[in-house]
Amino acid sequence: MTTNYVATIDPFPHQSPKLTKMYPFYDHLRKGRLVTTQCRECRHTTWPPKTICPACASAGVEWVDLPEEGTVIEYTIAERGIPAGFSIPTIFVLVQIGPVRILSRLIDADPDQVETGISVKPAVVQVPGTPYDPERFLPVFKLKTK
Ligand SMILES: [Zn+2]
Repeated sequence: MTTNYVATIDPFPHQSPKLTKMYPFYDHLRKGRLVTTQCRECRHTTWPPKTICPACASAGVEWVDLPEEGTVIEYTIAERGIPAGFSIPTIFVLVQIGPVRILSRLIDADPDQVETGISVKPAVVQVPGTPYDPERFLPVFKLKTK
């Protein structure tokens, strides 16, 4: 098979069952659910999701939903050096959501609307596919309007 796909500059993760054990994460994401893994033995919750619990080394992990609301812990507004495929400016946020902290992007927001402590909600964006992963999705956040 010939392809023009250039893996070395692809900024997005593989998501197909053939390429990653984390494919259930992306399957949930494409259905609008932000999930991660939790250990059945010690109940430790990880981010990013893992196949083995980093707290007790058990392979008995299960998928659990994260809450519908999180809080911005830190943020930065990037206007230069942004990877291809990201908007300018890009608002990067560190979000406390349930027991985990997620570094992601805030979309559909003006830089003036961002400050630490604001409430955000998980959202999903589609990103360019590859010959191996025609449809790919990433978790992002949007402002939570009360
Ligand atoms: Zn554990």
